[in-house]
Amino acid sequence: MSAASRSVSILGVTGSIGRSTIDVIEQVRAQGVDVPVEAITAGRNVPALVDACRRLRPRFAAVADAAQLSEARAALSGQNVEVGAGASALEEAGARPADWVMSAIVGAAGLAPTMAAVRRGALIAIANKECLICAGPLMLKAAAESGAKLLPVDSEHNAIFQVLSHPGRVERLTLTASGGPFRTWTREAMAAARPDQAVAHPNWSMGAKISVDSATLMNKGLELIEASYLFETPEERIDVLIHPQSIVHSLVHYADGSVLAQLSAPDMRTPIAHALAWPDRVAVSTNRLDLAAIASLTFEQPDLDRFPALGLARAALKAGPARVAALSAANEIAVEAFLTGRIRFLDICRIVQEAMAALEGTEAGLIAKTPSSFAEVAAVDQAARAAARRIAGSLAAA
Ligand code: NAD
Ligand code: MG
Repeated sequence: MSAASRSVSILGVTGSIGRSTIDVIEQVRAQGVDVPVEAITAGRNVPALVDACRRLRPRFAAVADAAQLSEARAALSGQNVEVGAGASALEEAGARPADWVMSAIVGAAGLAPTMAAVRRGALIAIANKECLICAGPLMLKAAAESGAKLLPVDSEHNAIFQVLSHPGRVERLTLTASGGPFRTWTREAMAAARPDQAVAHPNWSMGAKISVDSATLMNKGLELIEASYLFETPEERIDVLIHPQSIVHSLVHYADGSVLAQLSAPDMRTPIAHALAWPDRVAVSTNRLDLAAIASLTFEQPDLDRFPALGLARAALKAGPARVAALSAANEIAVEAFLTGRIRFLDICRIVQEAMAALEGTEAGLIAKTPSSFAEVAAVDQAARAAARRIAGSLAAA
């Protein structure tokens, strides 16, 4: 960890990444390093926010749901913490002066608070891929203007970031993917897959949305877009390779034939600790890699017929930032419909595909141009959600 300790904020402290971030901070504090916590946020889980306050001792805590303000205030009354609720409180959490901000809200809901941190030039540990995906070019421009630095936390992007010694000499990037719980399932079996089966990821324990995305491989599609934005690499120079053991987290192919990869056990505390200490490193206890015990690492091509999400993401990325934002928004709606039992598993990608096709007809002007403001991003996001809701509704009724 760098000599001067960093003050931190955690957006989405009650989620899977948020909890792993608390664990890393507690480990660093146990080594005698002061890690002051400025702000933390939760969606609606007040008891989990109270627990995070007790462990982190932040100055400010916010819940997303404005209706929960008095409940949160009462629950936190003894804790010497300012309490806020609603969208403005989430933005305040990003805006308050922490050196390092973990962006770990799920979905485009994380965009405004993350942007508040980007605009003031903070170090941004970026786990929330959807916010980067929906507004990538605008976010990167704002970061360049403010001096904010995006530190990738998604394990694949963190891996690439760690081995990207010569960005001008990169030939290709390879993102690895576990293949998810349905890697070996037939299409017929996938058609009947239940939400509990889709969220049971073989290697990682994650939030419900990203777990379903891993089962459809939309997560890898979103990560392809994320990598293209973060590492300024066009779609055709990024490959996806299935690697069921989730040990090699991604690879960078250089112009001299060298291929550099980062390996570690599948444990998000490793990339979180890397981002927290960057450009230094810090000692943290994580699941350690034992290659002899694993014995073999295997790789295979993804099956694009059973997993059409990869093709949809590639097409959107080639077509431009508005289509990319629309794809991610439509996917959020489709995943929610699946998790609440309204549609079937294969309907997720069908809804995304049909929503994209519908927008080409009704919103051709909107999705053809690169959004030049966050209001334009919001318009694309809303149009895509509306289209996806309509299609999900008709599939649910069928
Ligand atoms: P999660 O569902 O476990 O947690 C999400 C967090 O966001 C929670 O704190 C929740 O309260 C909060 N939240 C949800 N909806 C909100 C809203 N509308 N407004 C404000 N806050 C809201 O998700 P997670 O697995 O921790 O993932 C978080 C992000 O990190 C996602 O974008 C995911 O793709 C990314 N990510 C996660 C992992 C992982 O291992 N879990 C790995 C790589 C990337
Ligand atoms: Mg990932």
